[in-house]
Amino acid sequence: MKKHNFYAGPSILSPYTIQNTADAVINFADMGLSILEISHRSKQFQAVVDEAVALTKELLNVPEGYSVLFLGGGASLQFAMSAMNFLNKKAAYLDTGVWASKAIKEAKLFGEVDVVASSKDKNYNYIPKDYVVPADVDYFHYTSNNTIYGTEIHKDPEVPVRMICDMSSDIFSRPVDVSKYDLIYAGAQKNLAPSGVTICIVKDDALGHVDRVIPTMLKYQTHVDKGSMFNTPPVLPIFAALQTLKYYKSIGGIEAIQKINIEKADKLYKAIDESKMFQACVPAKEDRSLMNVTFVMKPEYKEFEKDFIEFATAQGMMGIKGHRDVGGFRASLYNALPMESVDALIECMHEFEAKH
Ligand SMILES: *Cc1c(COP(=O)(O)O)cnc(C)c1O
Repeated sequence: MKKHNFYAGPSILSPYTIQNTADAVINFADMGLSILEISHRSKQFQAVVDEAVALTKELLNVPEGYSVLFLGGGASLQFAMSAMNFLNKKAAYLDTGVWASKAIKEAKLFGEVDVVASSKDKNYNYIPKDYVVPADVDYFHYTSNNTIYGTEIHKDPEVPVRMICDMSSDIFSRPVDVSKYDLIYAGAQKNLAPSGVTICIVKDDALGHVDRVIPTMLKYQTHVDKGSMFNTPPVLPIFAALQTLKYYKSIGGIEAIQKINIEKADKLYKAIDESKMFQACVPAKEDRSLMNVTFVMKPEYKEFEKDFIEFATAQGMMGIKGHRDVGGFRASLYNALPMESVDALIECMHEFEAKH
């Protein structure tokens, strides 16, 4: 039976990425060796990193004066590392969920944190709108897509300072104005590669403005200077990331991808809104994530939630159980998920409804 991969992360990768990575595990760049057993200093792997950097810059229209890094430690390390490198006195943070809260917690270790707004009062099912970011903060930090709750900030916010953003679960899903940011970071395992690498896009001249002593490995400058090769980088995930980037370019780049993402999400939200049994977790349409669609059973059908997960799983829908903080269901529609899978899930919902 065909499996449809709705996992939230690690999550679906393109068949192109999987096939080329599998091939390289056997024989990388015609070296007669596996990608798992070659030096990261080989010219063949250096070419992989160079091309991954170049394609990231091309796809996201990264302006001059920014470096693209491939680091270890996950997005979670970036919560601390970003504050360590950019927070002098005070920074503004938007609290839109667990990931944002974790970033806030780490930032507090390094300076004053002004939480300008929070949607915690409604279990993060909306994006706060009327907040003010003071002009005297070092930066404004936000999470563009809230993977757990299914909310998303679809456009770069308009604020009087440069921004730092956790784009772990929607990077490469839509165009971004990189020039508004000091730093964009994203764990790769949601829209790019297997877990193990974090992509960072950092503004070079924004570095070096904090007074504290920063350990070598936690300084962006170290990695900028060495082109992500200060120490052994995550070789396999970087190789896989390059395959995904090539695939993104081959299908028309980020604008083409965004168009398909909108079609996929619109179709699923419409099916949920029109159904008799299901309802979306995020009421405001403009706040709904295109990447993670969260939904539950209406109160009168609540008892069927477990049955639906079993029913859907038996039909090949993998990973649709909602996060424990939200419950219900979550269908992640990352770039690599085909429309066919969205159609299959909708069909499955219709069949379940017809039976009850
Ligand atoms: C998954 C996720 C993280 C955590 O990433 P790790 O790489 O596991 O540290 C952080 N932020 C967001 C928005 C995520 O979706």
